[in-house]
Amino acid sequence: MLGVQVVCAQPEETINEIEQAYPAYREASLTHRRFKHADILPLVQRLQQAAAVEVRELGTSIEGRAIYQIRVGSGPVKVLLWSQMHGDESTATMALFDLLNFFTAEDEFTAWKKEVLTKVSVYLIPMLNPDGAQRFTRRNRLGVDLNRDALRLQSPEARILKAARDRLQADFGFNLHDQGRVYAAGRSPQSATISVLAPAYNYEKDVNEVRANAMKLIALMNRRLQGLIPGRVGRYNDDFEPRAFGDNIQKWGTSTILIESGGAPGDREKQTIRKVNFVAILTGIHAIANGLYEDEQLEEYERIPFNERLLFDLLIRQATIELLDREYLVDIAINQWEVNDSSPQGFHFNGQVVEWGDLSPFYGYEEIDASGMTAEAGKLYPRRLKNAKALYKLDAQQLIQQGYTHIRMKKLPDPLPDTPFVLLDKQARYQPELRLGSAAHLLLKRNGEVVKVIKNGFVVWEKE
Ligand SMILES: [Zn+2]
Repeated sequence: MLGVQVVCAQPEETINEIEQAYPAYREASLTHRRFKHADILPLVQRLQQAAAVEVRELGTSIEGRAIYQIRVGSGPVKVLLWSQMHGDESTATMALFDLLNFFTAEDEFTAWKKEVLTKVSVYLIPMLNPDGAQRFTRRNRLGVDLNRDALRLQSPEARILKAARDRLQADFGFNLHDQGRVYAAGRSPQSATISVLAPAYNYEKDVNEVRANAMKLIALMNRRLQGLIPGRVGRYNDDFEPRAFGDNIQKWGTSTILIESGGAPGDREKQTIRKVNFVAILTGIHAIANGLYEDEQLEEYERIPFNERLLFDLLIRQATIELLDREYLVDIAINQWEVNDSSPQGFHFNGQVVEWGDLSPFYGYEEIDASGMTAEAGKLYPRRLKNAKALYKLDAQQLIQQGYTHIRMKKLPDPLPDTPFVLLDKQARYQPELRLGSAAHLLLKRNGEVVKVIKNGFVVWEKE
């Protein structure tokens, strides 16, 4: 009786319950985006032991890292998912391992899963570009963008994906990527946390049955996404790219859905977006299994607003700055670029003034209304300090009000102390000007008094 109830429950309800239970499936060993091939190997090995899972090594990358295909389900409808063909786009890889944890768990959803997995066979290829993942770079070891190698197939990773598609003749394909934080969902201040696309298979952007099925499935998935991230779903640029995989896999007869994980406020490591991926992909697989997408309207897909490049990390509006001895009103846009390094999270920020002038059509993840304020570069403190102790002895509030932002040290303390000042070592150059392209260190003043200090693109001090 219970089993019947589970099977008959509204699909929305069950997926809501699974969403509630998500923390149990979240792969705990993947905690941030810069994990590597060595981090997924134990997960693949564990899956090799799991019942009803088939793991197959499809080949190796240029540097010899194995690329795996993992299958769950034995149904007649085939679904192929591949992630991280761009090495620095790892959000969906985390979600794929979460999904595998879900599918292999014995729990209250077992009957529901069994039913789905008798209708579909799901093939997952996580981390298609492990050499890129190793360095957290987009391209593979040859410096080739795999998503421009779908026809020439010079890279082994591209040949592996093409061969998997051809061997399976998959009915549906999920092409899983990350996009920059710069995109908004339509002409709005809301970031495109997820962007979707049924890629075009020709320049005319025609719609055949293969592409229409992808569009219908996206329309259905979008309804669930709107419940999770209202107003934050965008549609990716639909121009045909003759060398890209999504476009060609659509052309080769697999209904292809592109999912791009974008930006969300307060989610640099994309751990919330990872969960959104999990729910969206599961919704898609379930809908494919049960043909739920068939009655969807193409107009629902067309209504999803296109991505618009409208966002900066920090936007300072209406500041007054002095340039060439005159005052001007400008908006100042700052991006907090990530630079790979060997720290535990694998990167540090590099804040930069990336645009200024009239930026009224744009938005910031964070915004400062600087009307009535002046923006200017700070000064270099005249004394060179010996150590962190000397730094703590200074009256920071007083120095800030005197306009100092930079302090030179004999040797940079390790670890770097938490301070509103930019610390320079012996060699580092002090650049006194605030200009387009410069490092984002600046002061905001009102009536001559400092009210905010921005260091490396972040507000680090505010007048109380
Ligand atoms: Zn990509």
